[in-house]
Amino acid sequence: MPALAEAILRRLPASGIIAAAGRVALDLLVPPHCPTCDQEVSVQGLFCAACFARTGFVTDPVCTVCGVMFAHAAQGGTERLCPGCRAALPAFSRARAAFRYDAQARRMILPFKHADRTELAGVLARHMARAGAALLAQADLLVPVPLHRKRLFQRRYNQAALLARALSRSSKVPVLPDALARQRATPPLGARSAAERAATVDGAFAVRRARAARLAGRRVLLIDDVMTSGATANACALALLDAGAADVTVLVTARVADPRLA
Ligand SMILES: [Zn+2]
Ligand SMILES: [Zn+2]
Repeated sequence: MPALAEAILRRLPASGIIAAAGRVALDLLVPPHCPTCDQEVSVQGLFCAACFARTGFVTDPVCTVCGVMFAHAAQGGTERLCPGCRAALPAFSRARAAFRYDAQARRMILPFKHADRTELAGVLARHMARAGAALLAQADLLVPVPLHRKRLFQRRYNQAALLARALSRSSKVPVLPDALARQRATPPLGARSAAERAATVDGAFAVRRARAARLAGRRVLLIDDVMTSGATANACALALLDAGAADVTVLVTARVADPRLA
């Protein structure tokens, strides 16, 4: 159904109808393109056949807790846990990702994050909703991983908050975009080890006092773009649980492979 007709049928507020009308106008002016290349596609947001074939969707087997990809099921042992989760379980109870963080995923995520391609949030969120359907079904609240205010000022938008808003629109799970604050700017985690990552983000996040009441007893689904060792998600989960959240799960766009599981 055309976006405008759908908006009117759903009785969206005027702003929603204007946005839908804008999309219709845009579709008429610019035919839909594959999100990762210039190939024309039939529907906005679909990958072309070549990009679809190149896309690394996360599929089983994965670690039951943190969702990291196994090369084969035996790597998880009888508990189906990765080496990291076997050594120490994270503060969050489960994490899932839509894509493997590979060259193809970077073609979507880097422009989304650094080049103002904010319209990609919808496409990415659609794949996250599929990968995280079970987590979304149990969540009371979506909370994005925050940026430090300096970085937010430079970038002008928080990519995790855009993903959380897009997921909230499709799932109807409410989003609390400013529940967490980054207390201090942390350097890019880049090539650091898991232990260094954990030390770098330790205590870097806190729940805003005015938001704590909204979190008490709630099952929170934390949203981010990329997860590597899980140190950032763990630090955020600790802050949310400290503020009284009943449970924290994590949904990300892409997951970096664990070199130990190659
Ligand atoms: Zn393509
Ligand atoms: Zn794990």
